[in-house]
Amino acid sequence: MSDKCISGKKCFESEELAEEALIQNHIRNNYRGGEGPVNVYQCDNCGYWHFTSKGDKSEKLRDPEVLEFIERERRAFDWERKLR
Ligand SMILES: [Zn+2]
Repeated sequence: MSDKCISGKKCFESEELAEEALIQNHIRNNYRGGEGPVNVYQCDNCGYWHFTSKGDKSEKLRDPEVLEFIERERRAFDWERKLR
């Protein structure tokens, strides 16, 4: 994997990896009111996958099970941070 895209964005090798990272990103950042990346796309320049904050939300981020998972993990993450 390289980070050589002219977009300067982080590159992911596959859609699955990008979506997984997108979910992790939402766990670690408590985005409000439509901030933050909402989806992933395959780049025309490098062929890898990037985050995008424009357009429709990824199906993953609309899946109630995934949203519940994000909430749960976020609480665990906040708690962990307080203990440090
Ligand atoms: Zn690219």
